[in-house]
Amino acid sequence: MSGDGLTLAGVTVRYGETVAVDDVSLELAPGEVVALLGPSGCGKSTLLRAIAGLEPLAAGSIAAGGRDLHGVPTHRRDLGLMFQEHVLFDHLDVAGNVAYGLERQGVGAGERQARVAELLLLVGLDGFGRRRVESLSGGEAQRVALARALAPSPSLVMLDEPLGALDRSRRDELTGVLRRVLTELGQTALHVTHDQTEAFAVADRVAVMRAGRLVQVAPPHELWHSPADRFVAEFVGHRNLIEVDGRMEIWPERAVVLEPIDGTDGGGGLPGTVTEARFDDGEWVHEVQLGDGSTLTSRSTRRSDIGGAVRCRIDRQRVIVIAD
Ligand code: ADP
Repeated sequence: MSGDGLTLAGVTVRYGETVAVDDVSLELAPGEVVALLGPSGCGKSTLLRAIAGLEPLAAGSIAAGGRDLHGVPTHRRDLGLMFQEHVLFDHLDVAGNVAYGLERQGVGAGERQARVAELLLLVGLDGFGRRRVESLSGGEAQRVALARALAPSPSLVMLDEPLGALDRSRRDELTGVLRRVLTELGQTALHVTHDQTEAFAVADRVAVMRAGRLVQVAPPHELWHSPADRFVAEFVGHRNLIEVDGRMEIWPERAVVLEPIDGTDGGGGLPGTVTEARFDDGEWVHEVQLGDGSTLTSRSTRRSDIGGAVRCRIDRQRVIVIAD
């Protein structure tokens, strides 16, 4: 296992009047991967910068492996960093880039070579050591950036939107690589993203942030099945949020079952008209406009025609009630 735990206690960062990070407390166990998920401007990068020692704290404390980082300069914080834009060193080849941190640590040549080979193999770039960085694709360059961040076995790796500049298929591929590599190395990591799919795929727990505060910290399945509030529910991708008798319910897309109105149907349900049908991940996603003008999203293996009259039946067993 490489990596210590991280403890944030009441961390607050201000820019003048703006409270960019507001009383954030969060504990990462050694080897744990936590995704910091939230919309643009909610304070994710500021929190990362604070952990890196690049922003002063207005209040609170940060400790890694039980060591208070107050006053410790960035280069002594034992961090690995990876950003959206790979900033590889053009004058070094791939192996030179991955070895960079090890060299600074004074690791001997033999051990360095072995570690570089191990990391390149882990990220799927076996045999790429002598390649020039200009010859790499975007996805390959990000793999090198990942290997470089991990090579010195830092106490904490922080990844700031590391897949943000890649196209969808590369992103999906690299998401899998990230998860596998971080888990295999037992590397403590904080992964910043605004993308819920990426957060769910990579992290053991997801910390949802809004306006500088942590709203909910939980494993992906718990965030999905028990979102703390409407914001979290919408942010993790739920579509049908319905107020029923003064409380909020989520009708997951698969809980909305469509039945054509054709004279032989059973009546009841919520009658509506199909306004959209699209094929997604092997299933049909339909938008249905109800009589009151509201819209429900339904997902199933059966296709319904656009313009068709349907009844929406709600599978109550799949319904989620938001606690507050
Ligand atoms: P995110 O990374 O989630 O997009 P940021 O941490 O970049 O969010 O920003 C959080 C808030 O702090 C925003 O309101 C942003 O405008 C503000 N902010 C960020 N950096 C600065 C800065 N250097 N000076 C003043 N305000 C800033």
